[in-house]
Amino acid sequence: MLLEDTTGLIFGVSSRRSIAWAIAQSLAGAGAHLAFTYRERVGHNVKALAATLPGSLTMKYDVRSDGEIQAVMDRVDGEFDGLDTLVHSVAFAPKEALDKPYLHTTRQAFQTALGVSAYSLIAMARSALPLMRKRGGGSIVTLTYLGSERVFPNYNVMGVAKAALEASVRYLAHNLGPHNIRVNAISAGPIKTLAAKGIRGFSEMHRGTAAASPLKRDTEVSGLGDLSLLLTSDLGRGVTGQVIYLDSGYHIMGMTERGRTAVSELVS
Ligand code: NAD
Repeated sequence: MLLEDTTGLIFGVSSRRSIAWAIAQSLAGAGAHLAFTYRERVGHNVKALAATLPGSLTMKYDVRSDGEIQAVMDRVDGEFDGLDTLVHSVAFAPKEALDKPYLHTTRQAFQTALGVSAYSLIAMARSALPLMRKRGGGSIVTLTYLGSERVFPNYNVMGVAKAALEASVRYLAHNLGPHNIRVNAISAGPIKTLAAKGIRGFSEMHRGTAAASPLKRDTEVSGLGDLSLLLTSDLGRGVTGQVIYLDSGYHIMGMTERGRTAVSELVS
């Protein structure tokens, strides 16, 4: 078992559709003992899911509080005596920032989106450091989206937060590398989850990505679990500071078949 006798802390399960839950299943299947955090209003979902993985822990927290993140780490350390894997699968932007043009993003919405979705990785990595050092190293994985590099209408401030998150992955990889801690991001194609529901036009993004991708299919959430397993296990031991795309190859396309047809109709 690739993760036998290892421990993992999963931030970001809210339902069985959560990407973090698919990751948790892959890690647990490989032998990891897991702890889960949850926000109060989804506590019952998370506790019910965690109960299907014997020996797992659940803890309430809010990612906006450094004190609550530290309390989570203290409890994990008390129960598990160190930490090997941390999964950051958390994001939020106020609804109005995803509905109005980006130009109208308020200072408050900007700070909220970047605080919850990007700064949180720094706070988690810092408080996980002593626990990972106890284990002689560790692996941190976060989730991002191509909206960090390209414009997807309505993704707006979340795209800017993901750009900050990806840059943080590189800076944290530099800081934590000497402690044998690796930090990577998975850039996932669209998947129907609670967070995705908040993005207007998500269905078009979802359908359009599959149709325009080289593999012509949706991103499988179980594939995100398996890629996380690679990154957190010894198989990924030389990989750090990377953004790895799992989107059926969508991100490599410059022009889609439909776009080419539209252009040739225009010029003919
Ligand atoms: P999700 O709604 O299941 O997960 C988002 C999580 O963020 C939830 O568990 C929620 O409780 C948590 N969260 C939000 N605000 C919080 C706060 N203040 N304190 C603590 N937790 C908070 O949706 P998901 O799609 O699984 O999202 C997980 C990650 O994957 C996010 O970073 C998202 O941007 C990223 N992602 C999603 C997609 C997609 O299409 N679904 C694609 C690429 C990347």
